[in-house]
Amino acid sequence: MLQKDILLGRNIHEDHLSPLEFEFLEKVQLFVKDEVLPSTRDWENAKSFPDNIWTKLGSLGLLSMSIPDKKGIVCSCKAYVEACRILAHGDPALAMNVAAWNALSASHIVHLATQEQRDKYLDKIATGDVKLAWALTEPDAGSDARRVRTSASFIQEKPGYAKLNGQKMFITNGGKADLIVVIARISETELSAFLLETDQPGFKITERIHTIGVQASNTVRFEMHDAVGWHTPCKFEEAISFLGKGRLGIAAMGLGIAEKAIQLTVEYASQREQFNRKLSDMQSVQNMLADSVVDLEAARLLIYKGAHLYDKKQDVNMAASMAKLFASEAVNRCTNRAIQIHGGRGMTFEYLVEKLWRDAKLTEIGEGCSEIQRLIIGKQISK
Ligand SMILES: Cc1cc2nc3c(=O)[nH]c(=O)nc-3n(C[C@H](O)[C@H](O)[C@H](O)COP(=O)(O)OP(=O)(O)OC[C@H]3O[C@@H](n4cnc5c(N)ncnc54)[C@H](O)[C@@H]3O)c2cc1C
Repeated sequence: MLQKDILLGRNIHEDHLSPLEFEFLEKVQLFVKDEVLPSTRDWENAKSFPDNIWTKLGSLGLLSMSIPDKKGIVCSCKAYVEACRILAHGDPALAMNVAAWNALSASHIVHLATQEQRDKYLDKIATGDVKLAWALTEPDAGSDARRVRTSASFIQEKPGYAKLNGQKMFITNGGKADLIVVIARISETELSAFLLETDQPGFKITERIHTIGVQASNTVRFEMHDAVGWHTPCKFEEAISFLGKGRLGIAAMGLGIAEKAIQLTVEYASQREQFNRKLSDMQSVQNMLADSVVDLEAARLLIYKGAHLYDKKQDVNMAASMAKLFASEAVNRCTNRAIQIHGGRGMTFEYLVEKLWRDAKLTEIGEGCSEIQRLIIGKQISK
């Protein structure tokens, strides 16, 4: 069973996973229990994952969930969100990296790269030998993504290649990546995407950005000065279309954090006594837990609806925004209540809930803040 804890209930789409996916997720769960959760504080303190993390993730199949025919695992979106959720139980920063790797970077190469590009990179991406990042955000182009200023000038004597100039900011795994999918401007009105190999003189990391949560994740700002990028012929809308699946992954990361926070809080509340009663016997504590479990269940349903639509090859734009909006705000409520129930101890580094609370914040900002999700949903219903 993927979910034995009765608090969290039976996974609602467990029955819809293939035996191979099921086996894969059980391995992920074991990996999280044995190797991720015990290290999460160390990774945060080191502000880094261990160097061998990528080969480990690769050998488990976690880097090829979007790559058909790699290691025999062709993951449905349902299995992908499950993997993100399970990873977040152990380390939310790792869940975020795996979510973005699969949904944004690898998917881009699978669906929009040329055969030559796919042949060159995909095998090595699946094993973690080529490490990935996805770069849209710039200092002056965040929520307003179409404002990207990084320019791409095609090189006449090298068809398919362009010189990239500009800077990118807040790029997950940017400092470790061998290959970055860079969104750049090809004309005044058009944006497209390029594959940038980072071992070239035109590429320069200018800042390691430290964040309050997901601290182990290598978030950077970088500059490109005539850096050579290999064009993946696509329109901007195609390049950002992967954010649908990406947002479902971030929502699932939120779900995993919320599950962990609730589980830890139930355990704590059933031990801690005040006024000669366990906290868990107090009505107002039960009310907070009840609200958290309802939040959890509602988030779960929205995420699984989105994943189901994705697997049916239907448009997930609105469903993914709804899932991310609700799950990210829900996990912030849940982790806040988790700290409240832990009292003063909840604010100390001794208890994991404070870390989950900090890690949860990313879900309301990364891959489009809540206000942008509301904008997308609002536009769809006003069409
Ligand atoms: C840890 C981390 C990892 C990230 N990883 C990546 C990555 O790998 N690749 C990548 O490309 N980007 C990445 N990002 C960037 C992320 O996607 C952006 O931070 C996010 O889209 C918001 O952009 P911004 O930070 O520039 O905020 P801004 O766009 O400046 O917005 C600030 C705030 O203004 C409000 N706001 C903005 N626009 C509107 C609007 N139209 N209506 C109402 N309110 C609005 C919102 O409250 C918003 O939170 C990452 C960010 C973080 C923190």
